[in-house]
Amino acid sequence: MTTPVTPADAEARALAYVTAAESAARQVPGLEGVAPRAVDRVAIVGGGTMGVGIAVACAEAGLPVTIVDRAEAVAAARERAHSVYTRHVKRQHLTPDALAERLGRVTVSDRWDAVGEASLVIEAAFEDMAVKVDIFRRLDQLAPAGAVLATNTSYLDIDAIAAATSRPADVVGLHFFAPANIMKLLEIVRAAKTAPDVVATGLALAARLKKQPVVAGVCDGFIGNRIFAMYRRHAEYLLEDGASPEAIDGAIERLGFAMGPFAVSDLSGLDIAFAMRRRRDGTRDAGERYVAIADRLVEAGRLGRKTGAGWYAYDAEGTRSPDPVTAALIAEERARKGVSPRSFTPDEIQRRILAVMANEGAKALAEGMALRASDIDVALVNGYAFPRAKGGPMWAADERGLAAVLDDIRAAHAAGGVGSEPAPLIEELVRTGGRLTDWTRG
Ligand code: NAD
Repeated sequence: MTTPVTPADAEARALAYVTAAESAARQVPGLEGVAPRAVDRVAIVGGGTMGVGIAVACAEAGLPVTIVDRAEAVAAARERAHSVYTRHVKRQHLTPDALAERLGRVTVSDRWDAVGEASLVIEAAFEDMAVKVDIFRRLDQLAPAGAVLATNTSYLDIDAIAAATSRPADVVGLHFFAPANIMKLLEIVRAAKTAPDVVATGLALAARLKKQPVVAGVCDGFIGNRIFAMYRRHAEYLLEDGASPEAIDGAIERLGFAMGPFAVSDLSGLDIAFAMRRRRDGTRDAGERYVAIADRLVEAGRLGRKTGAGWYAYDAEGTRSPDPVTAALIAEERARKGVSPRSFTPDEIQRRILAVMANEGAKALAEGMALRASDIDVALVNGYAFPRAKGGPMWAADERGLAAVLDDIRAAHAAGGVGSEPAPLIEELVRTGGRLTDWTRG
């Protein structure tokens, strides 16, 4: 007879699993005994949101940092570095001299001389391939031999960025999360030609910056953004099929996320995702279901909190409430597409979202984009506020039982079409009775 598992037991097991998974993620097979390169001086190209956050993280770890930006952006970058760093140390109650010393660890310039002295360069300029290629050509000319050349790109092909240099073995993705001086996750993206000691340098940097590393391969969105994009996409399918933004957010928040996808979208601004969708218009598979509701909101000037309304209406205190304007717009889009709305229980919403995350994770795992299922869980817990007490999407799928999860994945596929097919790995594990978190490449 088996003892029933109480919710507290389940939570304790999940928490213990995540802690073990976080240590495992620091160990990379094949890198045993590979010494990292020495990093004593950092140059960051681009002093925007990310560049400044990364600079503060490095400076707090005792590394001197120079941010290089365009002449017209230097003053703003300097101001940003000053205010982010000052806020970062405010709880430390530093004396004015100590504060000045800290701020002095980060310099900002439009001259590229600093790159010539850096053992690590981190590019955090605009998310645009032409801009990045141009910068990496320049780094190739200026950086000392043996310097690690990293990019903080969110989605771009790092093999193509590396190919802009004569030293692709030195190029790696170091994908920080906003705000980079606070968020724990650091995805180390290993491109086709990245040298082992460059990956080892990424791991050593993560340790020095007190970040949680996860090694990923080059694919659209690497590990975290790839899975998160699938989650967002299916939240919109649920929406168009009949669930309201507040019903979906409520269900996700009851799972333990601090905010549901629509509340997050209002916070980040709908224009960012809109621009991303426009960039992808040319390459999106015609069989993939496209939901245009967010486009309609943007066209109506509803960009989220910054315009006072998006998926929700906001009052002066920033408290959200369901908005009849959004509801009308959703109804119009459903009618335009001939969708007859149906209702979804919170449980159905939660199962659907968890299932598509595990499904995309299983695809990334089978493709070798993640070293192990638990690395995917570590990325989602540390970078995307996935509730730690649920262990991460891969663990949650194993705990629920993959056969039941596969039923939900099939329903998600019926709703989403191309791109949402069940992962062959999950089908295989259902046949063999295996678990995702025990699976290793044969
Ligand atoms: P941002 O627009 O805030 O900052 C970009 C900075 O790069 C600006 O200061 C700009 O002047 C500078 N820049 C542009 N071209 C340059 C050039 N040729 N030389 C030197 N500087 C140049 O952008 P961001 O949000 O900080 O994002 C930077 C990168 O980080 C992007 O690749 C983005 O995809 C990635 N990223 C962003 C986030 C996020 O949440 N914002 C998270 C992870 C990764």
